[in-house]
Amino acid sequence: MNPPRIGHGFDLHRLEAGRRLIVGGVHIEHDRGCVAHSDGDVVYHAVVDAVLGALGQDDIGQLFPDNDAKWKDADSRVFVEEAAWRMKAAGYAIGNLDVTVILQRPKLSPHKAAVRANLARLLGCEISQVNVKGKTHEKVDAIGEGNAIACHVVVLLVRTASQ
Ligand SMILES: [Zn+2]
Repeated sequence: MNPPRIGHGFDLHRLEAGRRLIVGGVHIEHDRGCVAHSDGDVVYHAVVDAVLGALGQDDIGQLFPDNDAKWKDADSRVFVEEAAWRMKAAGYAIGNLDVTVILQRPKLSPHKAAVRANLARLLGCEISQVNVKGKTHEKVDAIGEGNAIACHVVVLLVRTASQ
């Protein structure tokens, strides 16, 4: 009757010197960071689009336009909170979430646990329902040359018992 719903999200930001690198709510020390209207958190942005995609509702650019001064330098946590609220309002909860971050350097591995914890808290699920993988781009193209960061997210939403 109410099958689970799957969603995919993708995001990419350019990296430039003199900016902060925020990945999944974690500030990672690096010689460059994201060029973006908000804080440029590729993980949070891709998660929002994956959840909205599963719900069949718009996308992050429609909900939070990057020409709206309200979202300048915004903490992308508020975007995830909005997506989580919409998920609950529609009668769904996280089944599981699989995140792949593509970043040439620095290494993501020391930060993966913190990113998983942030996502579990914001989405109202267990850490075991959230996976975060990091990979390089084999030094190829803009990501591999250290000039961009990208993220893919797949999410499965399940009906909550109360609905
Ligand atoms: Zn983004």
